[in-house]
Amino acid sequence: MEFREDQIERYSRHIILKEVGGSGQKKLLQSKVLIIGAGGLGSPVALYLAAAGVGTLALADMDNVDLSNLQRQILHSTKTVGKPKVLSAHETLTDMNPDVRVVPIQERLTAENVTSLFQDYDVIVDGSDNFGTRYVVNDAAFFLKKPLVSGSILRFEGQVVVLEGYRSTPCYRCLYPEAPPPGLVPSCSEAGVLGVLGGTIGTLQAVEVIKIILGLGDVLNDRLLIYDALSMSFRKVRVPKDPNCPLCGKNPSIRTVSGSTDWACSI
Ligand code: ZN
Repeated sequence: MEFREDQIERYSRHIILKEVGGSGQKKLLQSKVLIIGAGGLGSPVALYLAAAGVGTLALADMDNVDLSNLQRQILHSTKTVGKPKVLSAHETLTDMNPDVRVVPIQERLTAENVTSLFQDYDVIVDGSDNFGTRYVVNDAAFFLKKPLVSGSILRFEGQVVVLEGYRSTPCYRCLYPEAPPPGLVPSCSEAGVLGVLGGTIGTLQAVEVIKIILGLGDVLNDRLLIYDALSMSFRKVRVPKDPNCPLCGKNPSIRTVSGSTDWACSI
């Protein structure tokens, strides 16, 4: 592909970085990323990836925009309250960068459809808010050998990790072998969340996506980054691969994607 004049100008600050250059920018324009949840995490991820010129961005979310979302979900606005989130996101992202093809997926992600939804994409980003969905997404990404950039936020804390269980690094099940009993871990709607945390964690997820696409630096795939907003601390905790992991361990018992996805809301 050749750049148009306006693309050379739009992406000039990338192109002058020797680590990116024209070839890196072309890679971004040719890459495809699927984001689960057009919410508090999906918003900054999608906005920054669109600005960066990631050529195809799919967003999977079945909810409509609610007024209570606007405290953190910056893809949406007061005028899109009541509209499907994926359509509100489509409008915002194509306004920002018409180079980006936005693919709205307004359906519930399930164990049955997840593999076919994921297979055309290079990187998967998880911004969902419940364990059921996270396991299904993890297992599908593992079987398809796709990097999964996982983020979560609750109250004043956030976490980021890149899951590549098909390598010598952990998958989500290595970190969280079993889902806690329902009701033990509160959701954002029950416990609250400082809205801006989505910006911090989602932006870090977007950085990891770009590093993966461009093959730059060290990807956060053997450590979990924990951000505590109140003490303003970032800690990296080593997360080993579990040799007994039922998915990515030596003797796996999970051979197909199964389980239910309790789509409550995107964070
Ligand atoms: Zn594992």
